[in-house]
Amino acid sequence: MEIIVAPSAGFCFGVKRAVNMALDAAEKFSPFEKLNTIGPIIHNPQVVKSLEEKGVFPIDDIDCGCFDTILIRSHGIKAEVMEKLKSKGLKILDATCPFVKKAQNYINEAASKGYFIIMVGDKNHPEVQSVISFAAKNRFLVVNNFGDIKKVPISEKLALISQTTQDVNFYKLVIDYIKKQAKEIPVVFETICDATMIKQEEAKIIAKGVDVMLVVGGYNSANTNKLQNICKEIQKNTYHIETEDEVDSEWFINAEKVGITAGASTPDWIIDRVLKKVREIDEVKVKAKDKAKV
Ligand code: SF4
Repeated sequence: MEIIVAPSAGFCFGVKRAVNMALDAAEKFSPFEKLNTIGPIIHNPQVVKSLEEKGVFPIDDIDCGCFDTILIRSHGIKAEVMEKLKSKGLKILDATCPFVKKAQNYINEAASKGYFIIMVGDKNHPEVQSVISFAAKNRFLVVNNFGDIKKVPISEKLALISQTTQDVNFYKLVIDYIKKQAKEIPVVFETICDATMIKQEEAKIIAKGVDVMLVVGGYNSANTNKLQNICKEIQKNTYHIETEDEVDSEWFINAEKVGITAGASTPDWIIDRVLKKVREIDEVKVKAKDKAKV
């Protein structure tokens, strides 16, 4: 089988930076210093587990008084939580991705100019919660589907922004719809990250040319789920897996070409293990074919 791995598969810049900051701090800290992250540092259970082994644990309650230093993950945190941490005088290592910071700054400025913010994304996602917290109270709407679009207050002065990992096409549809309906031309911020766009475009191209497509990443990873939806629309034999243990040889019985991509929070070592597993399955297939010829 020919196996094509997307060049962009795996950690994006922001995730790599956050994980490296955590590893670096874990190495420098004494065993008595407690380093925590608010929530899991990235949406990948295997990486979170390996960091826990090095002493970096996620927490949910910043009032627990149980840590010395808090590391802010790449998704960022709500503005009010950051203020609270600062007021407590706690040590903060800020690994918020610079692209997420940029989105926070856009919202901050738009809110100060009286804009009503429309954010396209998943309202439960930590990045959306962190970015939208910079909007004025009750002056925002998070849109995640066509049903939500109907709730947009079209008579308002609108500013549009999207989650960095949003599907480009859906964001475009929302922009077009609002431009047609709104009283004033809305301000549009282009916040979908290049890493996401490149990953989605590569995934589309690869999925078109293969018989089986594997999408590797945490089941709780929004961008991995988006990748799997995009691939599934093109190639019905698309499988979302977290680790190599889930790869099933049955998927490849009639396959000649296999594609592999991975979400922004999937480390290289997991991609390598999946690749190795697919190669092993291929070797078994080749041997079985050779035997059948004899
Ligand atoms: S996907 Fe883009 S915005 Fe999000 S963490 Fe990665 S580099 Fe930053």
